[in-house]
Amino acid sequence: MSQPTSQTMGQQFGRRSWAEPWKIKMVEPLTVTTRAEREKCLAEAGYNTFLLHSDDVYIDLLTDSGTSAMSDRQWAGMMLGDEAYAGSRNFYNLEAAIQETYGYQHILPTHQGRGAEHLISRTVIKPGQLVPGNMYFTTTRLHQELAGGVFHDVIIDEAHDPTSLHPFKGNIDLDKLQALIDAHGAAQIAYVSVAGTVNMAGGQPVSMANIKALRALCDRHGIKVYLDATRMMENCWFIQQREEGHADRSVAQILREFCSYTDAAWMSAKKDNLVNIGGWLAVNDWALFEELRNLVVVYEGLHTYGGLAGRDMEAMAIGIRESVRDDHLRSRIGQVLYLGELLTDWRIPIVQPIGGHAIFLDARAFYPHLQQTDFPAQTLAAELYLDSGIRAMERGIASAGRDPRTGDHYYPKLELARLTIPRRVYTQAHMDVIAESVKAVWDGRESVRGLKMVYEPKYLRFFQARFERL
Ligand SMILES: *Cc1c(COP(=O)(O)O)cnc(C)c1O
Repeated sequence: MSQPTSQTMGQQFGRRSWAEPWKIKMVEPLTVTTRAEREKCLAEAGYNTFLLHSDDVYIDLLTDSGTSAMSDRQWAGMMLGDEAYAGSRNFYNLEAAIQETYGYQHILPTHQGRGAEHLISRTVIKPGQLVPGNMYFTTTRLHQELAGGVFHDVIIDEAHDPTSLHPFKGNIDLDKLQALIDAHGAAQIAYVSVAGTVNMAGGQPVSMANIKALRALCDRHGIKVYLDATRMMENCWFIQQREEGHADRSVAQILREFCSYTDAAWMSAKKDNLVNIGGWLAVNDWALFEELRNLVVVYEGLHTYGGLAGRDMEAMAIGIRESVRDDHLRSRIGQVLYLGELLTDWRIPIVQPIGGHAIFLDARAFYPHLQQTDFPAQTLAAELYLDSGIRAMERGIASAGRDPRTGDHYYPKLELARLTIPRRVYTQAHMDVIAESVKAVWDGRESVRGLKMVYEPKYLRFFQARFERL
């Protein structure tokens, strides 16, 4: 199974090039700053790209969360917002879009993904129970821990190796899961937490064969499978491209099948679903739904708006139907591949295979002379901003946080700076500029010193931590 390149994706249509399946109707000017200005902005931001003002950023690759460009149809939908407190028509449109696209039965809107994670974690985790998952995600694991759960990573070993070319590095290692069940008993497992694609591993997908086998294993032990559906559209595009037997199926068909092997899902609609704010929770079990529907009123809002305006739910309903289209995904992931191939051609170390939403620069390979406690990935994100005003994000020791049991840092194997590509926002020319800036930072890598953390918040520290140069 070979990874499709941006060129072979065009060849599916019998020609070499391909282009975005949309044209631009409205533009937003970008600011360009000088190096001296960026030195000042970065020092004021404590060398943390989360603390920069976006006005001081040229190309913003901090995240693909809430940064998508909406379509003219979605903006038109915003005008059809029904802002009734209860029973808004937009809620019913959203409910139908999720039911038809993902296949779950009962739907609750939430203000964003972590709102849904909070509700499901507190409802289904009993203190002390284990939550096995395919690598952690920051907010997901924190809500599991706050509910008394103990996260266990059961992703395949290849996921921790940035050079492994395994086509489905998001897969669950069923032997690791079985060993956990054998050691603790099925009753000690709250549920299996599956994410597709796996953000922290580099946007790597889970295969259909893996989720099917996971379902069978969990059925034997009476364990539920819950899905973090945040980037499932992108995951399903990889299944179509890479997994035997799926080449002729639409992403929509693949998604329905994948979700059918899971019992519930939570969603950050700010990612795949092409909206600037929103999330949802979807379950099939009525008794669980009743509990969640009661809890949503306490933390988010009434169960027909969950912290969202009617217009936001309408934009999401339309975005869901746009985001599952094959032509959208081909262009979205094609742009990521284009950037990744440029960097690969220039022998710059990135996580392979190239993932769905971002390019992950391997900061350990950039700065082998730094200790992990010198924050190499945080340093790399800072250097990139200084070079060109491009904003990336740390995904390494700062993001990993501390182990609540020992108080020491978690020491993740991967130390990555993430260049996250917003959906439908930047052009291919922007990708060229990004690649050139990464190359400049790579060429200057030997003289770079690391950072020390001088302010550390208790929760999700990477968002607000401050650093100084060593
Ligand atoms: C962003 C994200 C979340 C959390 O969603 P928010 O909308 O940011 O609250 C959960 N899981 C994954 C995999 C994510 O990428």
